[in-house]
Amino acid sequence: MKIAILGGGISGVALARMLAADGHSVTVLEKSERAGGLCKSRRYGEFTFDEAGGHILFSKDKKVLDWQLERCGGEAGTVRTVRNTKIRWRDRWVPYPFENGVGHLTKEAIVDCLAGYIEAFADRRAGVPCPSNFGDWIQWRMGAGFGRHFMVPYNEKIWKCDLRTMASDWVAGRVPEAPIEDIVKSAVGLDTQGYAHQSVFWFPRHGGFEAMVVGTVRNGGFKLQCGIAVDRVERSAAGYRVNGEAFDLVVNTVPLPQIEAAFTDIPADIRHEIQALRPISLINLMIGVKLDEPLPPLSWIYLPFPEQGPTNRVTYFSNYSPHNAPAGHGSFLAEVTHRGELHPDRAWQQDVVKALGSAGILHPEHVVLLEACNNEFAYIDQNHAFQGRITRVRKWFDDSGYITFGRFGRYEYHNSDQCVARAMQVHSHIQTIANSGQQTPLRLA
Ligand SMILES: Cc1cc2nc3c(=O)[nH]c(=O)nc-3n(C[C@H](O)[C@H](O)[C@H](O)COP(=O)(O)OP(=O)(O)OC[C@H]3O[C@@H](n4cnc5c(N)ncnc54)[C@H](O)[C@@H]3O)c2cc1C
Repeated sequence: MKIAILGGGISGVALARMLAADGHSVTVLEKSERAGGLCKSRRYGEFTFDEAGGHILFSKDKKVLDWQLERCGGEAGTVRTVRNTKIRWRDRWVPYPFENGVGHLTKEAIVDCLAGYIEAFADRRAGVPCPSNFGDWIQWRMGAGFGRHFMVPYNEKIWKCDLRTMASDWVAGRVPEAPIEDIVKSAVGLDTQGYAHQSVFWFPRHGGFEAMVVGTVRNGGFKLQCGIAVDRVERSAAGYRVNGEAFDLVVNTVPLPQIEAAFTDIPADIRHEIQALRPISLINLMIGVKLDEPLPPLSWIYLPFPEQGPTNRVTYFSNYSPHNAPAGHGSFLAEVTHRGELHPDRAWQQDVVKALGSAGILHPEHVVLLEACNNEFAYIDQNHAFQGRITRVRKWFDDSGYITFGRFGRYEYHNSDQCVARAMQVHSHIQTIANSGQQTPLRLA
């Protein structure tokens, strides 16, 4: 078949590679000057930075992880790191996830967290139902102490809204849910570990996270056309036309609100739903520093409190690979979310750095490089209307003959490994179409 893939992020190029290996004629159309999307990296002199905040390679799915590692040149092409993540809690460093680090808080805060957790545990045992909003879910699952000392301020910082306006159904598997034994153990000072599936991760030795995309495109067997924005997708008697060219099948991975206008046959009510799918945006500050001594061996840290400035997470990026920064230097990525209102001028960037200085993360006078990258589509706005809305949009696409997937092509809160896993599922769906010669509706679990 002759297949058009719209968007050259990891979703698009991964699928293209799989389909090309089957012998299909595949063209990826990418608006930007090169492939990569949210996985892109950039260079400033000898510094390399990821554009959309710190990215790591890890997966619960071994087949997917192996596929991704292979694209990066395997063990030789990557650096393996034992995750060391912390929360900057007042003047302390508390291991992450917070529930596993509770023993590192002040005695008063430990009591608050433990008492609240036990109370919430008893309430759940007594049958108090799971709340439908995220704010109440935090109290229901974690208790008031964990809420006050971390979960509420941190999540307010990242989502930029009253947490009760958010749904709670997306949380499962995203927000750590430690067993009560672990909480009690860590409260009395015994070490426990959460997020075990992510206890080690990999990162490309050279070229930043984008190296995974570069390795997917290299010898991929498909045509990649960059600098081409798709602006017209229509059906024809024989199949489809994309920007005027005929194809047998069209797969979209572009964020839906950015591509909806190009599709000529989306019904008005579905268009309206797509336009309401507003994202949470993210400014990523790329910071290079001169070092007197090596950076602490941290992977990334969370900054939950407003007085630490607007940054919610800082990645110790030069710890991911020694090639991310020149000798004698280190680098950080500082992530600040927003809802379209932030414009990162120089004064704002310097204020963020100053706040990181006050929080004890870096010395502002050692900063030798400061750049910002705004990512319009970073997180999904998990408001109460979202699930209903996206279900209707996905159903229309899945029944239409077009295929749509990807972080914002399907609005799934997915990391790159899950995008690759989805590409594998879409690949086998297309194999079925190719073998049977019949278009069947897409059904993704
Ligand atoms: C802050 C942050 C941290 C993350 N951390 C991790 C992590 O640690 N590990 C991990 O694996 N994942 C991580 N992710 C997730 C990962 O970045 C995404 O899952 C993945 O990059 C999404 O890829 P995609 O191809 O679905 O979409 P995208 O990367 O958004 O690709 C869509 C592409 O469509 C293109 N496009 C737009 N309009 C048009 C048009 N009209 N015509 C043609 N092309 C168009 C865009 O330029 C873009 O290249 C993180 C994401 C964020 C925001």
